[in-house]
This record gives sequence, C-alpha cells and structure tokens, in this order.
Amino acid sequence: MNMAENKDLYGILGVSKDASDDEIKKAYRKLSKKYHPDLNKAPDAEQKFKDVTEAYETLSDPQKRAQYDQFGSTDPNAGFGGGGFGGGQGGFDFGGGGFEDIFSSMFGGGQRQAASQPRQGEDLQYQMSLKFEEAIFGKKSTIKYSREALCKTCGGSGAKPGTSPVTCHKCHGTGSIQVTQNTPLGRMVRQQICDVCNGTGKEIKEKCETCGGSGHTTQEHEVKVSVPAGVEDGQQMRLQGQGEAGFNGGPYGDLYIIFQVQPSDIYEREGSEIYYNQPISFVQAALGDEIEVPTVHGNVKLKVPAGTQTGTNFRLKGKGAPRLRGNGNGDEHVNVKVAVPKKLNGEQKEALKKFAKASGEKPTGNGKSGFFDKFMN
Ligand SMILES: [Zn+2]
Ligand SMILES: [Zn+2]
Repeated sequence: MNMAENKDLYGILGVSKDASDDEIKKAYRKLSKKYHPDLNKAPDAEQKFKDVTEAYETLSDPQKRAQYDQFGSTDPNAGFGGGGFGGGQGGFDFGGGGFEDIFSSMFGGGQRQAASQPRQGEDLQYQMSLKFEEAIFGKKSTIKYSREALCKTCGGSGAKPGTSPVTCHKCHGTGSIQVTQNTPLGRMVRQQICDVCNGTGKEIKEKCETCGGSGHTTQEHEVKVSVPAGVEDGQQMRLQGQGEAGFNGGPYGDLYIIFQVQPSDIYEREGSEIYYNQPISFVQAALGDEIEVPTVHGNVKLKVPAGTQTGTNFRLKGKGAPRLRGNGNGDEHVNVKVAVPKKLNGEQKEALKKFAKASGEKPTGNGKSGFFDKFMN
C-alpha cells in the first residue's frame, strides 16, 4: 500500500506537523541509528529503519513535503484530479511511460532521456552584413564572437587538473537511479536523474577552478569565413562545429551565418539577375547610339538602336550575379529611360520647332500643342 498515503510520516519520525527542517533531521539521525539493521537485531528493526528513511526522504525535501502536506501523499498521481486510482489495477500502465511523463513534467521534465548520454552543444547565429558587391563576388573574412567552449584548464572534464572524474558512486555511471515507492498497487520502481552527478554519470571530487566543474567557459572565438560568391540577403550558411560545446563529450553545435546584403544605390538584384535603369536622351533614343552602361563587372558598351522607346529592356548576358548552384552568371537587365530635357535654350527650342515642322506639327510652345499626341497616336 502507499506508504505516504497510509502512514503518518510525522508520526514515524515522532515530530509535529510544523517541525522545522532541523528537528526533522535530528529525529531522523536518532531513529536511523536506533533502527539501523547493523546495530539493531530486533525482527522489525529493518522495516522501521526503512520507514524512518522514507519518511525523512519525503519530509526533508521541501517540494515533496509540501505535496505530502497538501495531498497526503507523495505519489505524483495524487495531485492530478484524484481519478488516477479509480481504475484499480487496470488503470496503470507502467510500461507505457505515462507515469514517468507525469513525473517528469512535475519535476523539471525534459530530461527523461539519460542525461549521461553525449549531447550536442547549442547552435549559434551570427548576422553578417555584406556590401552589395561583396555578396556578388564573395569575400573572405574572420569573425569573432563569444561562445560556451570546453574549458581550457580541464579540457572539458570539469575536474581539477591532475585529477579526473570518477564513475558516480550512486548511479554507477548510468546517470539515473531507481527509486522504490510504495503505491496502492504495490511497490513500484521508477527512474530518476541521479542527484549526485546530476545525470552525467561522473562524479567530480575536485572541481576545476576555472570552470567550477561545468567543463565549459565563455570564450572569444574566431572563425575564418569564406562567403560564397552570389549569396543573397537573408540566406544562411552553416559552419559545422562552430557553435557551443557539447555535453558529456558530445560534439559542438553549429554556427549559422545569416547574410544581410546592403542595397546598391544603382542596382536592384533578384537572385542572379541584376536590374539597372539607364537614362538616355531623346536624341539618342531617336537616332540610336552606343552608350556605356555600368555593371558590377565593369562598364559595358551597349548599342541603342534608332527609335528605342522609353522602357525598353536590353539584356547584358552574364553581367549579373553568379548563380550559387550551377555555372555562370545571371544577366544584367538594362531598362532604358528616355529623359525629356527640363530646360531648353533658344537654339534647342528652334531646333525642336524645326523638327516639329518637319514632322507636320505646329507647336505653339505653350504646352497645348498636339506635338506629343502625334507621337502617341
Ligand atoms: Zn575546467
Ligand atoms: Zn550519479
């Protein structure tokens, strides 16, 4: 039967319900000596010793004591709706993990897997700002950041140099201990993280003074980064093992570099394609011309044919950004904008009037002529 439910733990220790921790400890010391099987050969001594020990284990733990005071039991199920016992024998399935789930969710959870297993360290993120051209051509750079790394003094063991961690005496290196508990269904054994080694399975007798036994310290770290040509804003790159140190000999986590590409003053970019707006004059558009167009690869000559309309696109093959996967570059798309002069001198006005006349137009110069309409229609 459930010890905690059916036994008066305070009575077993002979203390009052409001006994202080000290009183409980003193009572336990006295009674455990009195009933210790090595010292007391009475037939019921061993059982009494166990009862005293179990009572002490509950009442000396503030969390368990509070639960016992509130529910009259240390059985974790007692706190959950009270219906847990109604099903009798059939209601429990110890193999299914349900009990453990409830247990671990009450007591720190999340650590159900043996904590003594090697675990990989945390991943880290690093934001790297790149100029527009750096993203296109790539860049070699050295970055610095601080991370949790293996302690240089003890090499991550957590033990003082010259000493080494020993197998935990309580759990024998497994990281978990079995706790026997009396329940209404009989004695039950459950796993619990070892409280001596905190689940690592290793006991450190003399702690490393640098890291205090954790095996990790915060360290400045440098990594050489080769930014691939053609990265885009928001893309990330994983550098294996450049994150934080692992646990129990587990590997380092990874570093994710996230690229932030600064915009260009003159270009727009979409993937490996680059877009550029090139202003040309009305005369260049009408008569045609060969012009120089900037690209990220340097200036390129572009032939604008006579009669080019504003908004016409020209493609400069291979003058875009490198394709990250696959060969070659994207293109630069040149969008031609015909610029209409804002101010004209006398000579220019005369020339345009002549042009209009030659085109069969009669410009008045007050902006109400049909000059433009003619071109549009
Ligand atoms: Zn250390
Ligand atoms: Zn242990």
